Amino acid sequence: MRITLENYLAGRDSVYFHDFTPEIKANAEKTVLLTNALLAVLETEKIPLEAHPNTLSIVSSGWRPPQINSQVKGAAVRSKHMTGEAIDLYDPDGLIDEYLLTHPEPMIALGLYLEHPSATKGWAHVQIIPPKSGNRVFYP
Ligand SMILES: [Zn+2]
Repeated sequence: MRITLENYLAGRDSVYFHDFTPEIKANAEKTVLLTNALLAVLETEKIPLEAHPNTLSIVSSGWRPPQINSQVKGAAVRSKHMTGEAIDLYDPDGLIDEYLLTHPEPMIALGLYLEHPSATKGWAHVQIIPPKSGNRVFYP
């Protein structure tokens, strides 16, 4: 399973075009590229991947312009979703979270960071920049 930039942006780049800066586009492209590399590893490791019933891709939440982010319950005010540097992968049974928590090697190799699964029931939050703590697996 692979994702496209369109899966990540979900049409928001058209609706919220005034928020969609070249910097965010570059970040989003990098997020998609690294996510696909991670998905390839998960497939090799036989982690079952499934599409979210609403988005029809494994992206459960991609780019969030400020107006969208402010409507997301529990979303951080300075969420990395707003800068195109974070993605939520649909993970209904927590199998992606569980694998990455116990096997951080692919994230280290790709430069990815995971929000601790205790805060992400039903999805896995992955981002392409380190959190303030610098920890590979972090609490928000
Ligand atoms: Zn997230």
